[in-house]
Amino acid sequence: MNKKKRVIAISILFIFIVLLVAIITSFENNLVAEEEVIEDRYTPFRNTSNFKNENKERYVAYYENNKSLDYEDVVTYVNIGLDREYYSYISDSDISKGNLILVNKYIKLDQEYIPNNLEEINSEYFINGNNSVRMLVKEAKEQFEKMSSDSIKNNTPVYGQSAYRSYDQQQSLYDNAVENYGDSVADTDTARPGHSEHQTGLAIDVSSTKSGNMLTFGNTLSYEWMINNAHKYGFILRYPKEKENIHGYINEPWHYRYVGVEIATDMHDNYSDLTYDEYYYKFIDK
Ligand SMILES: [Zn+2]
Repeated sequence: MNKKKRVIAISILFIFIVLLVAIITSFENNLVAEEEVIEDRYTPFRNTSNFKNENKERYVAYYENNKSLDYEDVVTYVNIGLDREYYSYISDSDISKGNLILVNKYIKLDQEYIPNNLEEINSEYFINGNNSVRMLVKEAKEQFEKMSSDSIKNNTPVYGQSAYRSYDQQQSLYDNAVENYGDSVADTDTARPGHSEHQTGLAIDVSSTKSGNMLTFGNTLSYEWMINNAHKYGFILRYPKEKENIHGYINEPWHYRYVGVEIATDMHDNYSDLTYDEYYYKFIDK
């Protein structure tokens, strides 16, 4: 090869390398730009208090269909599972949470799950009869008895009507409800077995009379007393009205859940607009 040819070959090689570097650089820049665009979609959700990376696509999709919601609510609702049908994508309840355990239409307890330390509520604080569903977990039972005793002294009595129910008891309740009303109605007022808070031994339905009037409890002064005082004993109203779209049940003014005085008071004083499902994903499931 003569000198001239060598110069031409080296020049061509040089131009080729420069072009190659230019192409690679531009390709990388494009990639970065694309990533930034994708990142942008998640940023508002990432800035909320309970962002979960594994749910990020669902936040975007849910927001697309619910633009009136703020990002904080979108993230909470998707974490609860509300972007999916009730009783789909069911997971196991985290029983290590103790008094703060969450059970709902997406989270279930095993058929074998029986809480420790179940104790019978004193008959003084329970309606006549219904003896097969008179137990609560010891701490909840003691707090319930105190609350009931104080409510009676105040002439706004609150008696237990139905407390701990086993998986099998819930199964027969649910089966009866389906037989009587069909499954779509049954699902709005009776939990499916494994999905009932009553299986935790931390939930109780109440009445204002010894003969039991649970279904009209919401119209009584005893209900008013509960709204203002239940938290002092560690109980919260679990299925409030106007939140049916979150908890998935009809308004149940008779159903209370023990979470301990600290959390119940925080919810009453600072987060009275949240259901326990929301509160759980905002502050407990960290
Ligand atoms: Zn109940």
